[in-house]
Amino acid sequence: MRCPHCGNNDDKVIESRTLADGEAIRRRRECINCTYRFTSYERTEDNYFMVIKRNGRREPFDRAKIERGVQRALEKRPVSQMVIEHIINEIEDQSAMLGKHNHEIDSTAIGGLVLEKLKDLDKVAYIRFASVYRHFENLEEFVQEIYKMGGEQKSGGQ
Ligand SMILES: [Zn+2]
Repeated sequence: MRCPHCGNNDDKVIESRTLADGEAIRRRRECINCTYRFTSYERTEDNYFMVIKRNGRREPFDRAKIERGVQRALEKRPVSQMVIEHIINEIEDQSAMLGKHNHEIDSTAIGGLVLEKLKDLDKVAYIRFASVYRHFENLEEFVQEIYKMGGEQKSGGQ
């Protein structure tokens, strides 16, 4: 496939994964020329799915967008690239499952999946992602969310 970075036509497949019980196959490819890594999907036309955005517009599912959001949330956090790759795979797979029947999925459902993963993985990343994604109305709401995550922690009284 044509490299999106340098336009070269030679690449090697470095990973193939089946998504959502065989609905699609994702391949990670690396350009022979410039080593840029990109992703291709193989799916029957019926299994293609769209993401419904908050403004009601639809766009094709894009793993790279999820990757960017997750990477940004995890910036400078002590989480390895392998773990990040793994949770993105999971999010992608679960999105494909959810989008499988109606061929579309709400962007909020994807955001929910991301939040779920980050919550278990790294609290700081969770808060970062949540604050961007949920657009907390005000500081108080934001602080409440942090307290909720603290769980058993005793707050010094209010
Ligand atoms: Zn290239």
